[in-house]
Amino acid sequence: MAKITLKNLAHRYSKSAEQALKPMDHVWEDGMAYALLGPSGCGKSTLLNIISGLLTPSAGQVFFDDIDVTSADTAERNIAQVFQFPVVYDTMTVGENLAFPLKNRGHSQTRIMNRVAEIADMIGLSDILTIRASGLSADLQQKISLGRGMVREDVNAILFDEPLTVIDPAMKWQLRAQLKELHLKLAHTMIYVTHDQTEALTFADKVVVMNQGEVLQIGTPTELFEAPAHTFVGNFIGSPGMNIFKAHINAGKIQIGEKTVNLPDQSSDLRGEFEIGIRPEYCSLSDKASDIAISIDRVEDVGRHKIVRATLNGSAINIIVNESSEISENMKYVHFDVAKINVYQDSWRVAP
Ligand code: ADP
Ligand code: MG
Repeated sequence: MAKITLKNLAHRYSKSAEQALKPMDHVWEDGMAYALLGPSGCGKSTLLNIISGLLTPSAGQVFFDDIDVTSADTAERNIAQVFQFPVVYDTMTVGENLAFPLKNRGHSQTRIMNRVAEIADMIGLSDILTIRASGLSADLQQKISLGRGMVREDVNAILFDEPLTVIDPAMKWQLRAQLKELHLKLAHTMIYVTHDQTEALTFADKVVVMNQGEVLQIGTPTELFEAPAHTFVGNFIGSPGMNIFKAHINAGKIQIGEKTVNLPDQSSDLRGEFEIGIRPEYCSLSDKASDIAISIDRVEDVGRHKIVRATLNGSAINIIVNESSEISENMKYVHFDVAKINVYQDSWRVAP
C-alpha cells in the first residue's frame, strides 16, 4: 500500500487542447478510501488513469510513497483497476478469471483457491465458479471484473472507474457495501470514481470534488456538507444543494433587502459584496416579520420531508421542512441558523 503524491500535476491531451487537468498538488493518504466526484467530463478518468499509469501526464509528477512513478507502467505500479464496463477472459471460467491475477504472480494453488473462494463468496459468485465467463449477463461479468480487481491483497492501490454503471440498481447498494467492507478489512488505498454523490458519500472516507479539470475540495462527507470550500461544491453536494445568493456585508452583518442577519463571527472584518451560502436544512419557515420575506413558489413532498421552493430578494431559495409540519398562510418569512452560514467571494469560501 502506498501514499500517493501528485506534484504540480496537469494534463493536456494534445498541445492545442484545453487543459483536461489544471495544475494540482495533493497527497492522498495510505490506506484511505477516496471517492473522485464530479460531473461528466470534469477529468475524473484522466486523473485516475494518470495515477494508474495508463496515461502519462503532460506536466508534473506522481509519487508512490517516495518513489517517482511518473513514467512507470501499471504493472510496475502494482495497481488493480476496475473499469466502467466488464473486462473478462471469455475462454476462462468465472473461477479462473478471479484466480488470474494471483496465478500471474505465482501464488500457491491452495492460496489461490482459498482467496478465490473468499472473494466469490463476498460478491455472490460462489455458485457459478465453474461456469464459463462468456455469455454471462453484463452485471455478472462486471462482478467478475470487480472480483478480479479485489483478489490481490498486496497491491499498492485499487482504482475503480464508475464500476457499478452496468449493475442493476438493487444490486448497487449491496456491492457498494461490500466494497466498503473489503476496504475496512484490507485497508487498501482505494480510489473510486463516480458522478453520483450518494455513491461517493457512502463509500469514501474522503471525497475529492472536481469540476472543469480542477480539484475544488478534498474533505470528509461532513466537511463537504458543513463547509464547502467552493460554491460549486455547496451546490453539487446535497439535495437540493446549498442556497447561494449575493449580499452586502458590513460590520458583522449581512444585508438582505431591508433586513440584516448577523454573521456567525461578529468580530469579522469582511466588508463589501459577497455570496452567502446556507443549506436548505439550516433554513426554516417563519411567520415573524422580523425574519426575511420570501415568496413561496411551490412545495414538493419528497417523502422524508418537504422541499419549499421560494424566492428571496430575486434569488431562488430552497427550504427543507419537516414532513409533519403544516405550512400556514402566514409563513412568509425564512429564518437562518446563523451558525451555519458560509461566506464566499469569487466562489471560494472566505468565512467562517
Ligand atoms: P470524466 O471521467 O470526469 O467524465 P474525462 O477525464 O474522461 O472526464 O475527460 C476530461 C476531459 O478530457 C473532457 O473534456 C474530455 O473530452 C477530454 N478527454 C478525455 N479523454 C480524451 C482523449 N483520449 N483525447 C482527447 N480528449 C480527451
Ligand atoms: Mg470517466
